[in-house]
Order: sequence, then C-alpha cells, then structure tokens
Amino acid sequence: MKSLDKFVSAKLETLDRSGLRRQLVTTRRLDDGHARRDGQELISFCCNDYLNLSQHPDVKKAAIQAIEDYGAGSGASRLITGNHPLLGELEGRLARLKGTEAALVFSSGYMANIGIIPSLLGPEDVIFADQFIHNCLVAGSQLSGARLIYFNHNDLDHLTDLLHANRADHRHAMILTDGVFSMDGDLAPLPELGEIARQHDCWLMSDDAHGVGVIGDGGRGSSFCFDRKPDIPLQMGTLSKAIGSFGGYLCASQAVIDFMKTRARSLIYTTALPPASVAAAIRALDVIENEREYCARPMYNARLFARELGLPEPQSPIVPIITGDSARTMQLAARLEDLGFLVTGIRPPTVPEGAARLRVTFSVAHKEEEVRALAKALADIGALSPEGSEE
Ligand SMILES: *Cc1c(COP(=O)(O)O)cnc(C)c1O
Repeated sequence: MKSLDKFVSAKLETLDRSGLRRQLVTTRRLDDGHARRDGQELISFCCNDYLNLSQHPDVKKAAIQAIEDYGAGSGASRLITGNHPLLGELEGRLARLKGTEAALVFSSGYMANIGIIPSLLGPEDVIFADQFIHNCLVAGSQLSGARLIYFNHNDLDHLTDLLHANRADHRHAMILTDGVFSMDGDLAPLPELGEIARQHDCWLMSDDAHGVGVIGDGGRGSSFCFDRKPDIPLQMGTLSKAIGSFGGYLCASQAVIDFMKTRARSLIYTTALPPASVAAAIRALDVIENEREYCARPMYNARLFARELGLPEPQSPIVPIITGDSARTMQLAARLEDLGFLVTGIRPPTVPEGAARLRVTFSVAHKEEEVRALAKALADIGALSPEGSEE
C-alpha cells in the first residue's frame, strides 16, 4: 500500500474503534420537516432550517425568478464583476434588522469567520474565546496568528482573570463568542461581555448563526434577547440556517465594513454567491420581519418538548440531551431512527470528551403531536437516564 493510503487507513481504523468515524448518509429532505433515508420516512429533528424557509413557496419563487433573470451563477468575485445589485439590497436589509450602520455578505458563515478575524488581528494580538465557540471561529483565529486563549464557557470571572493577566501584553484584543451556542443551545451573556470588552479595550465579536430568525424581538437574533442592548461592534451570522438560503454576513460600522471589502481574503478571492441565493435570502427576511407568530413557532416547540421531559427552559430551538459516551449516543440515535425520528448524535471533538449528546432542533414544521412523540420515544429508550442504567 502507498504511504498515503496506509496512513489514512490506520487513522480510520482508530476512529472506528472509538466510535468516532464520521460518514455521509444520503438524505432527502422533504418539504414538511420530514426526511427520507434508505427508503424510510423520518421526522427530522436535526435541521437548521428553523423556519422551513428553504421550502417556503415565495422564497423558492424568488430564487427561481432570479435564475431566470440573472442566470445560475455569479461569474466572478464581488471585487471583479460578481457584485450583483441584489447583494447591496440584502446588505441594507441585514443592517436594518441588526440595527448597525452597514453589513457585508460573504459566501458562507465559515468564509465570513475565516475572513473577518485575520483582517483585524495579527501575531502581536490576542483573542479571548469561549471554549465552546464554533469551529470556524477557531479556524479564523488560527489563520490570524493571534494568541488564542480560551475562557470557561460563559464564565465572566474566568474571562476577567485572563484579561487582567494577559491583555496588557498585546496590541489589539478580541473577545469571541457564539450568541447562541450551537451544541448547547444556551445564550452568551452578551451585555456583560460588551461591558467587559469596553473596560479592557477588546473588540467583541458574536456569531449569531443560530439566533437570527428565531429569537430576540421577532427574530432579530441573540443581541435582542436582553433588557439592555449589548454593545457588539462585530456581529456575524449565516443566511443558511433560519434564513433558509446560503451565505454569511457581518453587521458592523460603515468603517469596519469598508475595511473588510479591501482586506477579507475570503471575500476577495472567492466567487460571489449565486443571485438565486441572494434573492431567496431577501424574500426570507420579508417573512422574518413581518410574521412574528410564524417565527415564534420553533421556540414554542422547544419549550413544549422541554416541559414534556422536565428539562430546563430552553433559550433557543436547540435542546441537547447529554448521553455521555460516543458509542451509546450513536446507538440511541440508531434506535430513534428505527422508531421514525432523525436526531443526530454529536461526538467529540465537536463536543468535549464524555459529553456526547443527542442534539434536538425544533422548527416551525413540527406538529405538536410530533414533538410529544419524540419526547415519549426518548423516555422509552432510556436516553435521559444516566449512562448504563437502561435495560
Ligand atoms: C453553521 C455555523 C456557522 C457556519 O455557517 P455556514 O453558513 O454554514 O458556513 C458558523 N457559526 C456557527 C455558530 C454555526 O452554527
């Protein structure tokens, strides 16, 4: 065997032994929150399309019309000829939604994060990051070359101690957090983080991928969930979750946005989004701005589920059920699949060792009886009992 194949085969064997090998499973999403896998129809509780807007007739119509009018692709980077007028319209809408001076659309949330952070920080600088930030914020931090220091999840005292010990040794500093943590579904204490950032001259950046559309003042996102409005100069998010399309964005001051246009490599050296994705996102924002009750449904379903199982009140439509061991988690997920429910098992390194979980996400498409049926199935298979105590 060649050394390359030998190397990867040995790695795969190790992953298999610890139940950590990942595989792609062909899945056909249906338009009602269900999915088809291996010929079986399942109720899906693991989709980020919280508002089912990817299937919304008006959103689909807007995308189809944009293809008819402008074609299937954008043809170039935004800095060359790919800066379609629809992008400016979308950016105006995003800035209005978040209440910032300006916004900038990237080709995905991942691309936004790996572009924004290295544009602002270099090796002389320091990043204080919540230990549970999304992987693409870690990737962006590493690309910047800045020193990366983690603080314990949502632990403001720990953050403050680290700032006292390390801030003064560096030129610029950033504090990085998710608005809604993607694997735990809890909120960051954004007003307090904003205050700490101000005291220590740090730039606060939040990732609102799971907040926009579903929480905070009719879906304006995590920065609108608090009595006092947090001061967050860098608010990024994605168009590919509740907004139902594809792409990422940064909402910030006009100066920051102008700087990104001339510095963010993942904006400059990649092709612009297809017009259809942009048109779909604009139409989806119409729904989010105008239909408050519709946008409240995912939270309603998450609360119903938590009540059924006696879990703490959820802060977002993401409800984790910590199951501990990776192998047990994957077995529980397989049993749920046999019962007609699609719930993803999440394993290390996505979550800490020993904290594998079933991650349940709720959408507008779920019917109350489907939510109750999932709660009952989880109880029946012993998913909530501590490890090893089921039959
Ligand atoms: C999904 C996600 C991203 C990446 O967004 P994409 O548009 O899918 O690339 C970034 N941050 C968080 C917290 C996410 O959950």
